[in-house]
Amino acid sequence: MSLPKLEIPVYEVKLFEQGKKIKYRPYTVKEEKSLLMAMESKDEKQIFETSIRCCDACLVDKRIKVQDLSVLDLETLLIAIRSKSVGENIDLQAKCDECENKLSLSIDITKMRVEENGEPEYELKLNEDYGVRLRSPSLESIYSSILNKTDETTSALLSCIDFVYNDTKTYSFKDYTEEEKVEFIENLSIENVKDINEKFIDKLPSNVIDLSFTCPACKKENEKTVGNLLDFFT
Ligand SMILES: [Zn+2]
Repeated sequence: MSLPKLEIPVYEVKLFEQGKKIKYRPYTVKEEKSLLMAMESKDEKQIFETSIRCCDACLVDKRIKVQDLSVLDLETLLIAIRSKSVGENIDLQAKCDECENKLSLSIDITKMRVEENGEPEYELKLNEDYGVRLRSPSLESIYSSILNKTDETTSALLSCIDFVYNDTKTYSFKDYTEEEKVEFIENLSIENVKDINEKFIDKLPSNVIDLSFTCPACKKENEKTVGNLLDFFT
């Protein structure tokens, strides 16, 4: 007689850009082990691939593919899975606004929320003839920047350009090679890049956690918001 297989509990998380709740299960010991090994390797490609594979395995609804999620939704999902696998609290360092005293806080990661940062403009003019259509960064594009070791500014732009157009033609970015896309981006004016950053990238929604604590040194009550939540896991 073989040993019984224990049923793993199922949880739900709301994905902002998918606009719905999805079901997931926590990591198994085996998956946690392969994630830790990937982290230890410090190899971005391995960390990325292992995270995607584990995330995919944890999705209960197999109609949803991790590769199709936006980066924001993937971050939400990774944090949700992690909170039910390893624990709901993470430790971080916070600084008092008044006296700059540093203290350690344990925060509840399930209190994460999506902060909207204004209205991103999905269509921008590049010059009199050409315009660009933008989209929320996809996982696939982030992955190819990791593989191609593109610098941060270029990869941010690469990940959000959907197509370039003029009056008569549309140039869909996915039809071009990495080199062609990078060359296009490197030839944009500084003004163009500033525009895309300020009117689109900076306005994309992000995952944040609100902190509120009283400073033990000066008694000031601090209210803060922290972002870049995935940084706390690596
Ligand atoms: Zn203080």
